Amino acid sequence: MHTTTPPQITRHIRQLVQRVVPGGVATYMVVEPEPDALEKECFPNVEAKIARDGGRMLCGWQLWEWPHVMVEAEFHAIWLSPDGQMVDVTPKLHHETKVLFVSDPRRRYTGATVDNVRLPVRDDQLIRHAIGVSEAITHVLSRGVPTADGHVSVPANEIEPLQQAQQFLGHALLTGLRDHQPCLCGGGRKYKRCHGPELERAFAL
Ligand SMILES: [Zn+2]
Repeated sequence: MHTTTPPQITRHIRQLVQRVVPGGVATYMVVEPEPDALEKECFPNVEAKIARDGGRMLCGWQLWEWPHVMVEAEFHAIWLSPDGQMVDVTPKLHHETKVLFVSDPRRRYTGATVDNVRLPVRDDQLIRHAIGVSEAITHVLSRGVPTADGHVSVPANEIEPLQQAQQFLGHALLTGLRDHQPCLCGGGRKYKRCHGPELERAFAL
C-alpha cells in the first residue's frame, strides 16, 4: 500500500472516524514493538505483551492516509499498559513511529476478518474505482475456501481480473493520474472515456 500515518487530523479523517466509531476521537500513540512482534499480527502481539507485562487489549481502528487519494481505517488492536498508556506493539511495514488510532468499545477480536473502510479525499472516478475494486477483492476472498497453509483459495477467473484492475488503478494513482487525464493504457483517450467506463462495466463499480 501507499498509505502512512496521517500527519494531521483533517476533515476527511474526522469523517472516517465518524463512519467507523460514531462519536469516537482519534489519538496519536507511539509504536513500541517487542523484538519478536510480527507485522500485521496485532492481536497475537498484544496478547503476548499482556502475558509479559499485564495490561489489556483495546480494539479499534488504525487510521491511514494515502495523500491526495484516500483515507483508510483498518481494524486493529493496541496495548493498554497497567498505568493507562496506549501503545501500539505491532511493527509497521514502513517503520512509522507513531500511529493514529480510535478505539471502538463495541468491537472485540473474534478471529474473523474485518474489512477496511476507505473514503476518497476528492471526487475522482479513478479513486472511486480503486476503492470499489479493493472492496470487490475483499468480497471474493471472504467467499473463498481456507487452505491448510493459511491462505484462501478462490477461483482464478474471479480474482485475477480484479487484481489486474487493482494493479492498473494503483499504478495510475501512484503516478498522480486524474480521471480527466490521458489513460494509463496509452490509448490516448482520457481515463474517464477509456478504461474508466470499461472497468465500471466489468466490475459494476
Ligand atoms: Zn485506457
